[in-house]
Amino acid sequence: MDFKLTEEQELIRKNMREFAEKYVDPIAVEIDENSRHPAELFQKLAEGDWLGMPIPVEYGGAGADYLTHVIAVEELSRSCASTGFTVSIHVGIAAMLILLFGNEQQKQKYLIPLAKGQNLGAFVLTEPGAGTDIMAATTTAVLDGNDYVLNGTKTFTSNGPTGGTYLVFAWTDKAAGRKGMSAFIIPRDTPGMKAGEHFNKMGLRSSQTSEMVFKDCRTPRENLLGKEGAGLAMAMTGFDHGRTGIAAQSVGILQAALDESIRYSKERVQFGAPIARQQAISWMIADMATDLAAARFLTYHAAWLKDQQQPFSKEASMAKLFASEAAMRHTIKAVQIQGGYGYCKGAKVERLMRDAKITEIYEGTSEAQRMIISGNVLR
Ligand SMILES: Cc1cc2nc3c(=O)[nH]c(=O)nc-3n(C[C@H](O)[C@H](O)[C@H](O)COP(=O)(O)OP(=O)(O)OC[C@H]3O[C@@H](n4cnc5c(N)ncnc54)[C@H](O)[C@@H]3O)c2cc1C
Repeated sequence: MDFKLTEEQELIRKNMREFAEKYVDPIAVEIDENSRHPAELFQKLAEGDWLGMPIPVEYGGAGADYLTHVIAVEELSRSCASTGFTVSIHVGIAAMLILLFGNEQQKQKYLIPLAKGQNLGAFVLTEPGAGTDIMAATTTAVLDGNDYVLNGTKTFTSNGPTGGTYLVFAWTDKAAGRKGMSAFIIPRDTPGMKAGEHFNKMGLRSSQTSEMVFKDCRTPRENLLGKEGAGLAMAMTGFDHGRTGIAAQSVGILQAALDESIRYSKERVQFGAPIARQQAISWMIADMATDLAAARFLTYHAAWLKDQQQPFSKEASMAKLFASEAAMRHTIKAVQIQGGYGYCKGAKVERLMRDAKITEIYEGTSEAQRMIISGNVLR
């Protein structure tokens, strides 16, 4: 058993830390306040090859392993969870599913521009009436000549208003149940597909989230991803990768909460001594550091399994469940440590607490993760 990261992985962590301190930290408060997608930052991420990290070089990526990508998402999220998440869903789900299930023509046409960061990928599954219960989806895709015609409304699509390549899930044969959903690659500006206004959210504010409406949206047969009826299975594979990314996002948030708690508790003097000397405070920090280490191990283990080409669904769910709940629990404590100052806008811990909440909800709520994990261990 080897807990040591490779030299390349350590270097990527260092490089991403430097990148985040230079380009992300200075704008993190502003993009949160204004709920703004920082296109200029994504241009820089593309130039640095950060938007296709685990995609092979021949498809425009950096050719790194998944663990390296996860470390990059963690370090980005330590500065800005919205940016870390946008990278995670773009690479970890959208690009990854085209890599795993696309044919050569689709890889040339759609994967290469995604991996080079020329546009952002989106994963379009959730509907107003179908969140945890994805089988309740109603969006349909009907074959008409050489085109599929999509009709329906999706919601909570990350990168909805800002995306360029959309992976859209729709029923091609509802009666076939779990084998009746298919996935389509639909480029931006396809007639009949429209992104709504982005939602005004509590946290994760610079990530753009919207409805996606499909009204007689025609997409050629060649844009079917994988086989007809394989959509749900592909979505689940996407979740395995994506949940490992959300776990990494949570680890980044947790690390930032710990950094802030150590800094502030050493600086803030009450009763003639830094509050870090109070056991009530130092034990909060001890628990935070311990859960951070556990969350990081679970997350890296899930990514390592993926790199060993072993099943990692259960481990991805465990990592996401533990890391997200730890991030929520400890960002509340980080605000507590900073007292009234931590409750005010501009305090990083205030943003961390709002950003942590979503990690318990998207890509499957904590309750959904417990269903998956218990289903695995009880079978
Ligand atoms: C900011 C944001 C970004 C998102 N990005 C995307 C995206 O890019 N693509 C995409 O497709 N979706 C996306 N989503 C959707 C997200 O994955 C869903 O919100 C999530 O799966 C939960 O669905 P829901 O919100 O409809 O909640 P519901 O499914 O209605 O759940 C409500 C509550 O009931 C609980 N619950 C539901 N069923 C059960 C059960 N059987 N047992 C126990 N408890 C249960 C849930 O855990 C939750 O606590 C995003 C959501 C948000 C908020």
